[in-house]
Amino acid sequence: MNFRKAYQVEPGTQVRLDKIDPADTGGFESKKAALKKLEQAKRKLTELQYQLYSENKQSLLIVLQAMDAGGKDGTINHVMAPMNPQGCRVQSFKVPSSEERAHDFLWRIHKAAPKNGEVVIFNRSHYEDVLIARVHDLVPKQIWSKRYEYINDFEKLLATNNTRIVKFFLHISKDEQFARFGDRLAEPEKHWKISDSDYSERQHWDDYQKAFEDALSKCSTKQAPWYVIPANHKWFRNLAISQILVETMKSMNPKIPEPTVDIEEIRKLALAEKQQK
Ligand code: ATP
Ligand code: MG
Repeated sequence: MNFRKAYQVEPGTQVRLDKIDPADTGGFESKKAALKKLEQAKRKLTELQYQLYSENKQSLLIVLQAMDAGGKDGTINHVMAPMNPQGCRVQSFKVPSSEERAHDFLWRIHKAAPKNGEVVIFNRSHYEDVLIARVHDLVPKQIWSKRYEYINDFEKLLATNNTRIVKFFLHISKDEQFARFGDRLAEPEKHWKISDSDYSERQHWDDYQKAFEDALSKCSTKQAPWYVIPANHKWFRNLAISQILVETMKSMNPKIPEPTVDIEEIRKLALAEKQQK
């Protein structure tokens, strides 16, 4: 299966989230059936990130958005594990600080964009400014409605600077969210994840889904596609995202650079020292 094709939002089309099954497992029957593929993808990610880092000419930006308890943390853990921390970074975006609020909404985002050779994951992103900002009227419609275009232009700018962008919406059902909140309540070591607004925000579920549908539809572009990942099953979410990252990084074709020294000459020096011993 080509995961990119299967889960990408075709640019210019209107997404209907209620038509996409959050419990879909892409034909895989169980976690066990997917295990081999998952392991393969992990090994490939290690290899590709090494190549990207050593090449130092292009970068990868992974944007993660989801409803609360959608699995962003678990995804980050899974995706980053096979990669060398030296070339990776996770950037989380919280409620903007007063300094951030005194600038345009992309200011803090642009600063956090990856540099050559880097893989960066955005845990939340500039899309919050057309999601929570829209659902809670943090700014008037006149302001947020223009942001889709600014976002597309901004992402195009990054793309022309050799940053590949992939954006994942982790699609869970409302019942799955309820179950995950329940698990958090039941497990003391997860209590820290609970926030005051968890249950009250659920009242805005439909508004959020609509805001997501617009963001996904208006901002899935050739240079920065959105993927809707069925995420009720964590193992499938991990598999789909790992596969899409492998497919994407392969298409970037990163190359380990040629040596900057004459290897034969160095080898002679090494041999000479060995013979002296
Ligand atoms: P997460 O919920 O992502 O796992 P967290 O629970 O550790 O993270 P929170 O304190 O919940 O951290 O921070 C995220 C909150 O910040 C979310 O409610 C999110 O909607 C909000 N936020 C992020 N960016 C913006 C923004 N641009 N404008 C308003 N609110 C924002
Ligand atoms: Mg939170």
